[in-house]
Amino acid sequence: MTAPRLEVDLDAIEANTRSLVDRLAPAGIRVTGVTKAALGSPGLGAAMLRGGAGGLGDSRVENLARLDTAGLLAPRTLIRSPMTSQVDAVVRHASTSLNTERSVLEALSRAAVRRGTTHAVVLMVELGDLREGVLAADLVPLARYVDGLTGLTLTGIGTNLACQSGVVPDQDKMDALSVLAVDVEESLGTALSLVSGGNSANLGWALNTTDSGRVDDLRLGESILLGLDPLTRLPVAGLRTDAIVLVAELIEVRTKPSTPWGHVAQSAFGAVVPRPGAGTAVRQGILALGRQDVDPADLVPPPGVTVLGASSDHLVVDLAEHDAAVGDELTFGVGYSGLLRAMTSPFVSVSENRVVPALVSA
Ligand SMILES: *Cc1c(COP(=O)(O)O)cnc(C)c1O
Repeated sequence: MTAPRLEVDLDAIEANTRSLVDRLAPAGIRVTGVTKAALGSPGLGAAMLRGGAGGLGDSRVENLARLDTAGLLAPRTLIRSPMTSQVDAVVRHASTSLNTERSVLEALSRAAVRRGTTHAVVLMVELGDLREGVLAADLVPLARYVDGLTGLTLTGIGTNLACQSGVVPDQDKMDALSVLAVDVEESLGTALSLVSGGNSANLGWALNTTDSGRVDDLRLGESILLGLDPLTRLPVAGLRTDAIVLVAELIEVRTKPSTPWGHVAQSAFGAVVPRPGAGTAVRQGILALGRQDVDPADLVPPPGVTVLGASSDHLVVDLAEHDAAVGDELTFGVGYSGLLRAMTSPFVSVSENRVVPALVSA
């Protein structure tokens, strides 16, 4: 197999989805599986659906097209506001999109009519995180506007917190969203079928609340893929954190002094971080992996191995007692930004349904 590669355990993805679906069901909350960190992988999307996700969401229409072409029979939602220049692809590949702008909605309406289809709209409301969403006062007028457009049907409202500013989706925020859902329903005289409370950062609230109000959907990516709560980056109880790992190959293993010698200025990527263990020799390994492949700060090395630094194409580690030799592979855990960078690097392949369950391979 080629290295570096991401190994995705689809059974673990399915199990993580199932665990969340089952635990959110008593609160009346369904799961939309978010595939964007896996570039809309059909295999991964299918695993989410097997785990009980009611539909799939992605922020890129290209990824939704990939899921569509693969023939997955599930509602697909574009979870970023559509680009005006892409509305035709959006109504073709997505059943629903999240929206905030009248001009985009108008363009979507025309595109849906052209295609002879009906496109579902979820309006996003700003509750304080200062990313997408209309202010609460503008929601009802915008809902009425959508109601008047042909080719579109307003199915719900949603919000997104903890992405731009780290604002926590707590009971107050979710109560506010529920109140807004009722406002829209009363103004339009019709029921909304979807109130989408947010992303994986909502789990702390959703798994513990006794009052989910009108919230009946979460859009979950990171928690399913990595088993982590984005608010703390700690594992979510009951979820596997090893569903996706990054494997890289050693190209040099040499015992070297622990500190550089000579006159020291900047390194290729700025200020030099002093190495630990001054004066002792280090069993240094170099992996064929670099900043072109992954965010080196977001790697979890195998037990006993320490990341010392990284440049474009080299990851330098202290192997300590690890007996790996040149040509061997090391397996790393990845965080969200590590995963994103690796998935989008042309040098990193993706292998789904890995067979080696251990976190360390040699
Ligand atoms: C990325 C994204 C999600 C999923 O977030 P996770 O933290 O990965 O669960 C949900 N909603 C929107 C709008 C997003 O952009």
